[in-house]
Amino acid sequence: MSTTALVSHRDCWLHSMGAMHPEAPERLSVIHDALVGLGLDALLDTYDAPLAEPAQLYRAHSPAYVDDLFEIAPEQGFLRLDPDTAMGVHTLRAALRAAGAGILATELVLDERVTNAFCAVRPPGHHAERLRAMGFCFFNNIAVAARHALDARGLERVAIIDIDVHHGNGTENIFAADPRVLMLSFFQHPLYPYCGFRPVASHLHNTPVPTGTKGERIRALVEEQWIPLLAEHRPQMLFISAGFDAHREDDMASLGLVDADYVWITERLRDYADAHFQGRIVSMLEGGYNLPVLSRCVVAHIRALAEL
Ligand SMILES: [Zn+2]
Repeated sequence: MSTTALVSHRDCWLHSMGAMHPEAPERLSVIHDALVGLGLDALLDTYDAPLAEPAQLYRAHSPAYVDDLFEIAPEQGFLRLDPDTAMGVHTLRAALRAAGAGILATELVLDERVTNAFCAVRPPGHHAERLRAMGFCFFNNIAVAARHALDARGLERVAIIDIDVHHGNGTENIFAADPRVLMLSFFQHPLYPYCGFRPVASHLHNTPVPTGTKGERIRALVEEQWIPLLAEHRPQMLFISAGFDAHREDDMASLGLVDADYVWITERLRDYADAHFQGRIVSMLEGGYNLPVLSRCVVAHIRALAEL
C-alpha cells in the first residue's frame, strides 16, 4: 500500500478574488469536508505547507516578477493583474503556501517519507508564466516543484502531466527550453488561454481536443501516446497538474470526463510510477469549479494515489 501525504494550509482558504469569483475559498473547504467526512484524512500523512522562499520561486520565475508581487501586494481591496486575476490582502501568503506545498511534497517523496503526495492548494499555478500572473494563477506551483526536484535535489529528468481542461501555458512557457522536463497534456480547444495547439518543442506534448470529448479518447491518449513517451523520456519522478474542470458537470468548459475517468488516469499513472520510479508522484490541485464534482473527484484521485 502507498503512503500518501496531503499537503495544505489554511492560508490558502483566505485568498479571495471577490464573492462571485469561481476560484473561491470553498473549493478547498469542500475537499476538506469530504476527506474528514469519509475519515480519509486520518489515513493520510497530513502536512502544513511552508511558505516558499523567493530563491525557490526564482527557479521558475524571474526575480523581478517575484519581487514585484511582494512590492505590489495590497494592504486593502484588490489589485487586478489581468481580467480574471486579482491580488487581495491574503493572496501573496496563499500563493507562497501553494508553491511551498509542492516543494515540501517533493522533499517528502524524494526522502521516501511517503510514496506520493497531493497538494490541496490555491491559488492554482499552471497559467502563471515566467514573467506574468494570469488565469487565476500567480506562481506556477508545479513548475516550482519540478525545478526544485531538478535543481535542488539533483534529478536529471522529470515529467509533468497536466489534466486540467485548460492549456497549461505557464508550464509550457517555463519549460520551453528545458528538455529535462517532459510535459504531457490534453486541453479543450478552442478555449482559454487560446494557445498551445502549435508544437513548441519536442519535449512538450500538448494535445488539443474538441468540445464534447469523452473519457475514452483521453484514456486512449494516455495509453497510446503518454505511456510510450514516458518510457522514452525515463523520468525519475512525476508531477501532476490536477485540474478537474474537464468533468462533464463542470460549466467552466465542455468536455465529457466522468469521475471514473479521473480514477482510471490516476491509477494508470500510479501504476507506471510504481513500476519505474518507486511510485514518486506529486500531484497539485489546479482547476475544478463545480464544488460537489471537485470534492468527489479529488477524493477519488487521492484514494487512487493512496490505494485506499
Ligand atoms: Zn482549468
